[in-house]
Amino acid sequence: SLSDRLSATFKNLRGKGRLSEADIDGTAREIRRALLDADVAVPVVREFIAKVKARALGSEVAQALNPGQQVVKIVNEELVGILGGQTRELAFAKNPPTVIMLAGLQGAGKTTLAGKLAHHLKNQGHTPMLIACDLQRPNAVTQLQVGGKRAGVPVYAPHPGVSSEFEAATGDPVQVATDGLAEARNKLHDVIIIDTAGRLGVDAELMRQAADIKAAVGAHETLFVIDAMIGQDAVTTAQAFNEGVDFTGVVLTKLDGDARGGAALSVASVTGKPVMYASTGEGLKDFEVFHPDRMARRILDMGDILSLVEQAEANWDRGEAEKMAKKFADQEDFTLDDFLGQMQQLKKMGSMKKLLGMMPGAQGMRQQLEQFDESSIGRVEAIIYSMTPYERNVPKVINGSRRARIAKGSGVHVSEVNQLLERFTQAQKMMKKMAGGGGMPQMPGGGG
Ligand code: GDP
Ligand code: MG
Repeated sequence: SLSDRLSATFKNLRGKGRLSEADIDGTAREIRRALLDADVAVPVVREFIAKVKARALGSEVAQALNPGQQVVKIVNEELVGILGGQTRELAFAKNPPTVIMLAGLQGAGKTTLAGKLAHHLKNQGHTPMLIACDLQRPNAVTQLQVGGKRAGVPVYAPHPGVSSEFEAATGDPVQVATDGLAEARNKLHDVIIIDTAGRLGVDAELMRQAADIKAAVGAHETLFVIDAMIGQDAVTTAQAFNEGVDFTGVVLTKLDGDARGGAALSVASVTGKPVMYASTGEGLKDFEVFHPDRMARRILDMGDILSLVEQAEANWDRGEAEKMAKKFADQEDFTLDDFLGQMQQLKKMGSMKKLLGMMPGAQGMRQQLEQFDESSIGRVEAIIYSMTPYERNVPKVINGSRRARIAKGSGVHVSEVNQLLERFTQAQKMMKKMAGGGGMPQMPGGGG
């Protein structure tokens, strides 16, 4: 995964200053590969990387991050932005019914989606009706009727019931759409969903038909349905439908398969239209409101790194970090108070083991992590609080009798005080080595 591959670029322990070209290049190279692996169209990848590089160059590295992570953060923000930023829901018409039309290639999943979307809207308290306007494909009307029945939503189909299993319905799809709209008005349905025909490739006549239906019913939303497995063809197909029917949103289907969803980025990037829903299977419930941030993770295949970046940023106490950085800059000694502060910082960061377990390049810390027991922080606090300020500042004065007093004061055995001081000495050495550092919290030693 990208997470593994990126570990090499995440060696630096903390960020400082501004991102240089060298900082950006390694990470950008891996991001490019990840996007291509996710089947994002080549020109889209190229444009995306250029944009990220331009934005990253010279930008400041957040204190909690290293340069590689900072680039990842920028990549993620750009991805989420292109995918539409926030989840976009349907815009309902002031005067119902709201007219939703589906468009897309044959086999994209329009008819299946029609049932799911109807079901979803019904669950939200709407009273949808489906309209069968695919009169091209044998069985298309029946398929929609089956879907409608499963969803518990009525289906308006051309009269008389022409369609047998093997015969395409006849009639004019534009007429069916307008008749269906009239029927929905009569029966007070507040939303209609129009299923349309598609071809295996982009086809001028069918595109015109879709545009005619759209104009005749005054669609409020036109959803472009696209198979996530479409790969590099996403760009040309999306452009053709964007020009042909000027869709308002995108639905990505078959996300239950292997596709990482690069098509979402391709389509959103070349059309500027938001992805609104995702279909993840053949069942009625295999349907999701689209979340740009989750999709960004899926496309990059690096949700774990992003979680780490976010948590590190959210939890890292800037003041504490700055104090520490200053201490090193001034070449002051690392004291037991600092040690305690770091431990408390770790506690704040929540499940540190899990966090660092996720961080590529943290292998060196992993062993210390194994020993780190959050529940022991309370004992460490008790021991350190039993020391005098002088002892905490000049730990080397803590001799045998002082240890005994501290143990007694904190209610632990002397051996625990010894252990803690031993760990402190290790941490002190580590901090010395890192002088000039102080960004990411360093493990001050294990507990347990
Ligand atoms: P349409 O030609 O655009 O109307 O596409 P259909 O709705 O008829 O779907 C084509 C095929 O894809 C059918 O066999 C569906 O069962 C299947 N399908 C649709 N959506 C999904 C999905 O999200 N996941 C999977 N695995 N199959 C899907
Ligand atoms: Mg269909």
